[in-house]
Order: sequence, then C-alpha cells, then structure tokens
Amino acid sequence: MVLSSVLGFPRIGANREVKKAVEAYWAGKISADDLTKAAAEVKKTSWTTVKAKGVDFVPSGEFSLYDHVLDHSAAFNVIPKRYVGLGLSPLDVYFAIGRGRQSEGVDVPASEMKKWFDSNYHFVVPEFSDETDFKLNFNKAVEEFKEAQAAGVNTRPVVFGPISFLVLGKASKDAKPGFQPISLLSKLIPVYETLLADLKAAGAEWVQVDEPILVLDKAATLESQYASTYAALSKVAPKILLTTYFARLDSNLAYVAKLPVAGLHIDLDRAPAQLDEVLAAIKPTSIVLSLGLVSGRNIWKTDFAAAIKTGQKAIDALGQDRVIVATSSSLLHTPVTLASENKLTPEQKDWFSFALEKAAEVATIAAVLSGSQDAAVAAALEENKVSIAKRREFESTSDDTVRKRVAAITLDQLERKSPFTTRKEIQAKHLNLPKFPTTTIGSFPQTKEIRQARAKLGKGELTQEQYEDFIKKEIETVVRFQERIGLDLLVHGEPERNDMVQYFGEQLQGFVFTQNAWVQSYGSRYVRPPIIVSDVSRPSPMTVKWSSYAQSLTKKPMKGMLTGPVTILNWSFPRADVSRELQSKQLALALRDEVIDLEKAGISAIQVDEPAIREGLPLRRSDWDAYLKWAVDSFKLATAGVTDQLQTHSHFCYSDFDDIFPSIQRLDADVISIEASKSDMKLLNTFKQYGYSNQIGPGVYDIHSPRVPGGQEIKDRLKSMLEILPDSLLFVNPDCGLKTRGWKETEASLVNLVEAAKWARENY
Ligand code: GLN
Ligand code: ZN
Repeated sequence: MVLSSVLGFPRIGANREVKKAVEAYWAGKISADDLTKAAAEVKKTSWTTVKAKGVDFVPSGEFSLYDHVLDHSAAFNVIPKRYVGLGLSPLDVYFAIGRGRQSEGVDVPASEMKKWFDSNYHFVVPEFSDETDFKLNFNKAVEEFKEAQAAGVNTRPVVFGPISFLVLGKASKDAKPGFQPISLLSKLIPVYETLLADLKAAGAEWVQVDEPILVLDKAATLESQYASTYAALSKVAPKILLTTYFARLDSNLAYVAKLPVAGLHIDLDRAPAQLDEVLAAIKPTSIVLSLGLVSGRNIWKTDFAAAIKTGQKAIDALGQDRVIVATSSSLLHTPVTLASENKLTPEQKDWFSFALEKAAEVATIAAVLSGSQDAAVAAALEENKVSIAKRREFESTSDDTVRKRVAAITLDQLERKSPFTTRKEIQAKHLNLPKFPTTTIGSFPQTKEIRQARAKLGKGELTQEQYEDFIKKEIETVVRFQERIGLDLLVHGEPERNDMVQYFGEQLQGFVFTQNAWVQSYGSRYVRPPIIVSDVSRPSPMTVKWSSYAQSLTKKPMKGMLTGPVTILNWSFPRADVSRELQSKQLALALRDEVIDLEKAGISAIQVDEPAIREGLPLRRSDWDAYLKWAVDSFKLATAGVTDQLQTHSHFCYSDFDDIFPSIQRLDADVISIEASKSDMKLLNTFKQYGYSNQIGPGVYDIHSPRVPGGQEIKDRLKSMLEILPDSLLFVNPDCGLKTRGWKETEASLVNLVEAAKWARENY
C-alpha cells in the first residue's frame, strides 16, 4: 500500500491563535502556562485535523513558538554566552535569543537571522565554538510525540538533522580563529543518539530527519560526514526518513543512496527532473522513497492526474510498499486553510489549496495509487479533474496584448540612450544636486494615525476623498520636514502604502488577495503574499498622482518610488503554469509604463526598489546565470524607457554582493543605495576592486534600531567611505526606509546626516 505524509504544518493556528498568544506573553498579558496551553490547543488541532484528512504520517515536533531552528539550538544547549546568567526563565532566554530583550537591567540584542534557503522564512542562526557543550536540555521530539499520542494521533516526529544544523550555523565571536562548526560533529552525534533512542523507546516507528543542505553545492564535500553520522544514528534510531527539499540532490545523490537509512524524501515540486536518477540509484537498495508531489511552497491545487502518473512511475520501479506520497516540503510556507477565505470568488477558491487542503491531497493521491475503490476517493479524483480543467481553461485565456508585448521586447529597450558618464553630466545640470547629495530610501514613519486612516477607509468610515486629503497632508508634512532640515533629493514618504508589494499588486491586473492567508516570515511576523493568477498589466498609473503632488509642493527634486519587478514577484505567490521569467517581464513592462509616466509628469529621479533580487537566487549555483539574466533584464526593462536626464535609483537592503557583483553593475542604475552601516568597509572595497562605475549611497546609519547616530559618527563613516570611493560618486543616505521608526529619532538622525554631508562638502 502507498502511504501518505505531510512533512510539517503551519504553526500560527487557523485564527492566528499562536501569534496572538506569543505577543500577549511578550506584553505580559498572559502567563507562560497560558502560552503553553494556547500552543497545545493549536498543535492538537493540527494533528487531529491532518489525521482526519486521511494522512498516514502526521508530523510532530516541528511546531514552534518562534523558530524551529532556535528550538533545536535551545534543546541541544546551543545558547550563546550573552544570554546565559541573566536570571531569565528558559522560555525567556529562548525569546531573548530570537528577538533580543531590553528590560529590568537586561539588555541583549537578538541573534542573527538568515533566510531559510530560498523562502521568505527566516531562521535564527545557531552559534558554535570549540567550547560548545551539547547536551539535551529537553527532548522536544519525544515530548511532542507523547503529546500527540495523548491526543490520539500516532505521529512521525521531525528532527532537524545534525549536519544541516552545524552547516547552517556559524562560528560565534569567541570561537578560535579558523573554527568550523562541522568540526563538532563527533561531539554532537552521541546527543542525537540519545534523542533518537529515546524516541524509539517512546514508540516512534519512523523519524523524519531533515537534511535540507543536501540540495546545496556545498554538501558535495560532506560525504564521509554523512556516511559516519547516519551509520551511527541508524543503529539506535527509529526508521530514518532522510528528508531533503527545495532543490535537487544532483551529484550528492551518489552517496546519499548508499546511506543506511530506511527512507529518502525528495522534492518533486521544485525538482521534478531528479526522479529518474533517484529511482535508478535507490532501486537496488531497500530505501523507501517519499515523493514530494504536493507543493509545500505554493497555494495551487495539485493536478492529481499528473501526480498519479509520477507516483505510478515510482511504483513501477520500486513497488507500492516502497513509495510514500508526500508534500514537497513542510507546509510551513503555506497558509492554514482555504476555509477561512470568504472574499475569493468561488471560481478563484477552486484554484487553490492551502495546508489543510494539501493534507487531503496527499491522502487522496496515495489512495488512488494504492488502488482504492472507495467512492469518496473516486469523487475527490473527479472533482480535482474538473477544477484543474477549469483552471487550465482560465490560464489559456491569456492577455494577448501583454503576451505580444513580452515577446516583442528588444535589446535596446533594456538600455538607456547614453552611457552612465554622459547621463551623469546631463543629470547633474538637470537636477542641480550639490556634491554628496543627501536623500532617503523612501518611506517616512508609518504612524498610528496613518494606519488608522487606512483602516477607516477599509471600513467605510472615511470616503476615498477624505482619505486622499489625509494622505496629501501627510505628504506635505514630509516634504516640509525634508526642506526644513535641508535634504537635497526629496521623497513623498510612502504614506499611502500598506506594504511595498501589496500596494502595487492591488493596482495591477492579474493579482488576487486573501483575508487570512498568513505565512510566517520570522518569529511572530507573518505576511499575506498576494497571488498572481493571470497575466499582469497596469490599467492606469499607480503612483503618479502622489509623486506629482509631492513635486508640486517644492522646488527641490522629488524622487518617484516604485517596487521592482523581481521583488514584487518574489514576495507574491507566483503562477505555476508559466515561468517566473515571464511573470517578471510582465511586471517589468507595467512598471516601465509607470516610470515613463512619472517622467512625463515632471519627476526627474525615480527609485525602483529590488531588495529581493538576491534572495531569488536559485539554490544551485549552476542555475544562477539563467536567473540573473532575466532578473537583471527585468529591472532594466522597467527603468530604461526614460530620457538621459532622468536619474534612476535602486535600493537593496543587503550588501553581500561579492558573488553577484557583475549583475549589480549590469543593472546600470544611476544610483544604488545599499546597507553599509552594519557591515564594515569590506563591501566598498569590493565595489572598488570590481571598478563599479555608477553612483552609490552606502547607508550611513542603521535604521533598524531606534538609536540616533551622532554627527561625528556619520562623519567618520563618510571619511572611511571616501578613502575607498571617488567623491564624485557618493550619495549620503540611511540604509533603508524609515517606516518602522518614530519621528523623533528620524528627525535627530537625519539632521546629523545633513550636517555630516555639509561637512564633507567643505572638506573634500
Ligand atoms: N522604498 C522602500 C521604503 O523606504 C524600501 C523598502 C525596502 O527596502 N524593503 O520603505
Ligand atoms: Zn531596504
């Protein structure tokens, strides 16, 4: 019989119970006991509802109040020294590592977070040193396994694998120079042996051990570590399902297929082409293959017919008893249930499948592959056939105008009329900016009043006209403020935006929005990504009204402000029927029209933000070039339709450019602003070394903290920047938008920034 499985479930709860409880605990409104109870309820609901959908392998142990990697670190006693001895409870130490803590004499920053592979989820990076003393502070896997048993569900516990744990971690500041976390492996294995043996003793038949780094190039050098680790663990553990996701095993397959594990999970949503290779490699072994057929990364209904065909192929090679039908990854990256959506049309609702619906999908596909004669299964199969046919029909009704426009894109549409050096002179005359021009990244504080006005508009308590008057006043305040403190290139402040992607999605054709489709970004932060459902186009201008109003208030140049095509794509749920490249180019054409309209309306500088261009990089290096080609082309397509006198800007929130540098240069933005206040000057050296030729605004202070940078501090920073960069190329700006900041620190910081730029003008 073919069994079905889910690799992990969202934690938030159908009504955001966990998020609310966690935040209430932080605010001191509920006790630790209340929090535990709220979490227990959500876990119980997840286990029982997933089981009720007919899933054989229900996951446990992957639930988290903040982050599963942090849970794992805390369980294994991987707690950085700065959080030890503060007199906090273990739960508060846990939250302090995740989000920092400032209270009653305790002042510790949060640990570093990193993107979880190519998703929008962030994990807390474990810190290791030669002194790391692994021990099991608690056995979460066993505890939750028992908790689920008490709720009547026999689960397959999930444990984060030892090698991924070490490789995704970093050396702590106090580690000896040259220390590599992987060197701790032999110390770590005995602790895993205890954990897994306990799990076996508790009655777990299988355990899902996640080793997602097996899909990365760097795992190629870890063959011997994998061999020795899994030889040791398989002796004491329940049956191990070695679990990979998000990309393909590639050459690592050669050694993975030889590991003494009972099962292997592969992602056939992200990497369907690997199936043949994997089947061939494991056929001679007794390894059970878990097929990741139901996407854990998107919200589209699975095409049962296609999934069944793939499943049958695996059965033909391995036999029914060696095949499991599964979600491609944890369902952490999908919303809980479609049942909470009341505003989608029935037609739209029929296209989607969220976590709970996906659980039902794996069960149905497995049942069909097992030869089930059950009437309910047959009905589900038929229903799916109808839904998929309707969706395909909808997909086939493409917007011909947009499709033709994309097909007709020419190389010269991607290039500005003249090279940067020529543009620079023309723009200098046109914009008349001083040396070391000062500017900001776009948003000004999103105050409570602004959010309230938006909420009132939503509830109908404000008319559109009243709301727009309110926004205009906000814009005026921001413009006057910038004039008063002496900034050179102004912005309108973005008060009209709920979010930098949603705001544009709502004005573009081709998107739909949900009410409750929350997906975890980090900790208690959740986002509701818009969904791209059809060809994208721009029915009418999106920002021209606001930017030209702002420009009408001042003689100083106003910078238009847009979100770039790649970022809109990355922070949405994309379509699955056409390529990301096509979607990105459609977005780029819509933005190109907006850019051209802004110029026509008298705007002389336009910033197109692309903070997500880097996170969209494929996990395998061999796929980078293809991605960077269309990603950079999309940006160029969006921005190159203007005259030489228009100054284009772009903004990235990061600074790790080393490996994609040529692509940054190829964007050919007149000015880019980047994060530079946290990282050292190494970054600017990279720019110098590569001979970057356009203008740069390296952030002179960190806006992610309420701390006000002193004037001298900014001057010192400029000084060291000018040791590396030519003075004619430098812009002076903060490192990101100011929307999360208060007005008080914003004013104090920007006054110091302007003063530092004046000082630079006198001294350079
Ligand atoms: N223009 C946006 C802002 O200032 C940029 C946001 C971002 O970089 N994430 O908020
Ligand atoms: Zn930013």
